[in-house]
Amino acid sequence: MDAVKHKIQIHPAPFSRINEVDFSDIPFGKNFADHMLVAEYADGKWGDAVIQQYGDMDFGPSLATLHYAQSVFEGMKAFRNGDRAWLFRPEKNYERMNKSCERMCMPAIPEDIFMDGLKELVRLDKQWIPTSEGSSLYLRPFCFATDEYVGIRNSSTYKFVIICCPVGAYYPKPVNLLVNRELVRAFPGGTGDIKCAGNYAISLYGTRQAVSKGYDNVLWLDGMEHKYVEECGTMNIFFVIDGVAVTPALGTILEGVTRDTLKILLKEMGVPLEERKISVDELKAAHEAGKLQEAFGAGTAATVAHVAKIGLDGVDMELPPIEQRKVGPALLSRLNDIRYGRVPDPFGWMIEI
Ligand SMILES: *Cc1c(COP(=O)(O)O)cnc(C)c1O
Repeated sequence: MDAVKHKIQIHPAPFSRINEVDFSDIPFGKNFADHMLVAEYADGKWGDAVIQQYGDMDFGPSLATLHYAQSVFEGMKAFRNGDRAWLFRPEKNYERMNKSCERMCMPAIPEDIFMDGLKELVRLDKQWIPTSEGSSLYLRPFCFATDEYVGIRNSSTYKFVIICCPVGAYYPKPVNLLVNRELVRAFPGGTGDIKCAGNYAISLYGTRQAVSKGYDNVLWLDGMEHKYVEECGTMNIFFVIDGVAVTPALGTILEGVTRDTLKILLKEMGVPLEERKISVDELKAAHEAGKLQEAFGAGTAATVAHVAKIGLDGVDMELPPIEQRKVGPALLSRLNDIRYGRVPDPFGWMIEI
C-alpha cells in the first residue's frame, strides 16, 4: 500500500515498572507496560515510528479529537508460553483499522508501522505478557486527529499510538442482558461496522439503564425496526437454537475477529452455523419451546462470555446452566489451547514474535 519503508526507532525506557504490578490480580486496562509506539502524520505522510517509554502526551485544549471524535481504535492480544510469544491474527486488526480510518476520513496506517511496530513493541515488553490461563497482554492501537482547531473539517495531522496492558484471567461470570427497544448503537449508513470512538460514547446511556435495572449489559437491536438482534454490549453475539449456532449477519454490526474465529472453529467441530437476521420474537418462541440452548458474546476482551439470562419486555428468559452447554465452553477451550501454544495451530493464526 505504502511504498515508503518506515523505520521503527527504539528508545528503551531507562527503568522498568514491572515490579509495581501484582500479576496475580491484574485489573483490566489500568497498568500499562513500559513502552508505547508513536507515529505522526503531517504534510500528507507518515513519519518513522518511535518506541519510547509509556508516558503523557502534550496537547492543547483545542485538539480536534476532543471535540469531534475523529478517532479510531483496535483491540487485540499477545500470548506467551515460556519464552515464546505470539500475536493472534494481527492482520485482521490491521485491515479493520484501515477500514475504520477510511470511514473517518483518516489516512491509512502503513503496514510496516502497524505490523513491525507491534512486533517490536511486544518483543520489548515480552515480560509484561502474563502466562496464567485466561491472561494476556492487551494491545490497543489507536489513531486520532491532532490539529488544534475547533472548526469542523478533517484534521491534517494525526497520531498513531500503540499502548499495551497486561490483563488477568477473566473469570467469566455469566452475563445478564437486557433488550433495549428504544436506544440503538448502529443503523444502516452509520458507523456500527467500524471501531470509531463515538460508537462507544453513544452506547453508555443504554448500558447505564441496563445496569440500573440489575442487568450487566444491553442486547442491542437493529436501528430500523428495533426487532432484530445485533450485538451485546461491545461484543458480537451467538445463539444455539436446537443444536444450530446462529449469529447476526454482517451489515451494521462490527465484524469481530473473535466472531470470525468462532465461525471457523464451529465448522471444525461440525456444528451447523447460520448467519442471518434473528428477531427477538424468534428468540422468545425458541425459549418457550425449550430450544434456546445457549447464548454467548464473542469479543477479544472476554473471548466467550456466556449469557445467563435475557430480559425482554419485562420477562426474563433464563438459559440452561453453563455445565449443560455443549458449544460455548468447547469453543473457549479449543481457542485457548491454540492461543497458549498448547496444541498445533492448524489455521496459521499465531504469529510468533
Ligand atoms: C471490538 C468489537 C467487537 C469484537 O471484535 P473482536 O475483534 O472480536 O474483538 C464486537 N462489537 C463491537 C461493537 C466492537 O467494538
